[in-house]
Amino acid sequence: MDSSTRINFCALGGGGEVGANCFELSFDGHQILLDCGTHPKKEGEAALPALSLLNRTPDACIVTHAHVDHCGALPYLSRMFSGVRAYATAPTGRIMDRMLHNSVPVMETLARERAIAEYPLYDHGDVGYALRMTECRDFQEPFFLRMNAPVEATFIEAGHVLGSASVLLRMPGHTVFYTGDISKAPQMLMGGHRSLPKDVRVDTLIIESTQGASNDERYGTYREEIDTLCEAVGAVLRGGGSVLIPSFALGRTQEMVNILADLQENRRIPFVPIYTAGLGRAIYELYEHFSDYLMPRAELRPLDRFERLGNVWDSGGVERLLRKPSIIVATSGMMVENTPSALLAQQMIAKDHHGIFFVGYLDPDTPGYRLLHAPAGTPVQLELNRPPVEKKLENIRQFRFSAHASRSDLAAVVDRIKPKNTIYIHGDPGALAWMESNTGNGSTTHVPSIGQTITLEA
Ligand SMILES: [Zn+2]
Ligand SMILES: [Zn+2]
Repeated sequence: MDSSTRINFCALGGGGEVGANCFELSFDGHQILLDCGTHPKKEGEAALPALSLLNRTPDACIVTHAHVDHCGALPYLSRMFSGVRAYATAPTGRIMDRMLHNSVPVMETLARERAIAEYPLYDHGDVGYALRMTECRDFQEPFFLRMNAPVEATFIEAGHVLGSASVLLRMPGHTVFYTGDISKAPQMLMGGHRSLPKDVRVDTLIIESTQGASNDERYGTYREEIDTLCEAVGAVLRGGGSVLIPSFALGRTQEMVNILADLQENRRIPFVPIYTAGLGRAIYELYEHFSDYLMPRAELRPLDRFERLGNVWDSGGVERLLRKPSIIVATSGMMVENTPSALLAQQMIAKDHHGIFFVGYLDPDTPGYRLLHAPAGTPVQLELNRPPVEKKLENIRQFRFSAHASRSDLAAVVDRIKPKNTIYIHGDPGALAWMESNTGNGSTTHVPSIGQTITLEA
């Protein structure tokens, strides 16, 4: 049996915030990164994790899933340190391909329109190289990282989005479990996360804390939220309006369109076209390709069940689209300027018969949050190059369809694993504080800030 080993942990991003998740584990001169994301709210190099703290090429980077706050900086990392090897599940590898290539033109546009000189942070060539250096591994199949120390990794289903994994890392004398983003409750397509077998002894648990500040009892279940959404959507469509559902391209889009199709097929809402757009459709194809990874018996409709949203930059086209009732599921989920959801809302809020229903987290600094909270009659700016529009539409609401474990589910994860050390990451300060005071009894707890090194005993 190995003698116990002390390791060091450092958050390069995702410490004290949701942020650009990237965590460094080091021992015996070896360095392993867990995730390498970009900060969704920051721009230019400020969106990157603190990669300058790395003093040599990491031995490996393990990517838990393809949301950009976990993988968006991988091409930058592999340009900075050529030869760095990454590991991901096969669906995550394929989704990263679409997400990261999609980021390049988005950054190029921002470089032009907002004169951000650092953009693009990487080009298509860098994305291609990073993906060629990424090895795909299956869930539940332990594998050794290619490095000069025996480190065995296992991906375990995290239940968050297609391909999402937690990772169990057995280093010589020290076992680490990193949850990544996890969900316990089944969604429409994703089943809940798989629990770690009870006999696995974990020295250090690194756990996400997204929902640490929200009191579970205040919210209904996923199914109850579907019923509430059903009533709201039905009322708008029967009144001749259209419904806009701003959604993230990965996860939320595929869940929502299948929820809506299900409501139509059960005659609970009118049979109007359901539109989806660009990246959401590209990722949907991968949900079809990897449908074995979805919940058993999940009913994934074929992509051609959903109409393709046309060019939303043509305001005449949007006007024609909105003449007949329809449901539009479009990015971005937080209605960031110049995205399809912002361009559609720009026209929808000038009328009073439509509905705009947010279905995910809204950061207070985003246009979506401002629109939700602006009183009717006030001007709202959703697009940088167009004048503000007076908000006439009052039917703007927020529903709760979380792909993250509730805080009592997170507490149950800590209780089951009973680690020696618990590190709370990926949460706002209030969420992290709740997690640290209410979970992790008997373990040494840490809420690291970015750049702080923590020594962990096994
Ligand atoms: Zn995520
Ligand atoms: Zn995340």
